[in-house]
Order: sequence, then structure tokens, then C-alpha cells
Amino acid sequence: MAYNDCSYCGRTIQGAGSVRGGGSANASSSREGPACVECKRSKGNRSLVQWLRWVKKNDRNRWERITKYHGRKSGGMITLTVKRIAEER
Ligand SMILES: [Zn+2]
Repeated sequence: MAYNDCSYCGRTIQGAGSVRGGGSANASSSREGPACVECKRSKGNRSLVQWLRWVKKNDRNRWERITKYHGRKSGGMITLTVKRIAEER
């Protein structure tokens, strides 16, 4: 099962299991799958698009990890969004 990978950067999530179904106030994020602690903390309450744009500008290391990870994937909402943001200037 590959469900313990972060849906954003692809890193293995530590202590997976408590990530899903938590009583998070941001219910819309549950559709975007599990996320590692770093991505979660970085993303905060931002929408996926807002956060990816921010990462692209301000966190080049994470942005490279994200684009590398999603470059190997063929579909999915997050992958499509990553590719869209990557093409923006
Ligand atoms: Zn992550």
C-alpha cells in the first residue's frame, strides 16, 4: 500500500494513520489526501493553488521535490494542479 506517501511531495509520512479523518476544521483538505507534517504546516489554511504558487516562489527545494514527484504521476487532481502551476510564469 502506497497510501503513506505525502500527496504533495511524495515523502513517506511518519506515523501515518492519524492523518486522515481527524477533526480538522478545514474539511475540504480531506479530499486532497494525506500530507506530511511539513507540507501540512507549510500549507496551513491556504487552498492548494494558493499554496503551490507560494511554494514555487518561496520554497524552491520543496517545489522541486513536488514537481519531481508529480512528474512521475499521470493524473489526479493534485498532479494536474502542480503541472498547471509549474507552467505559470
Ligand atoms: Zn509533503
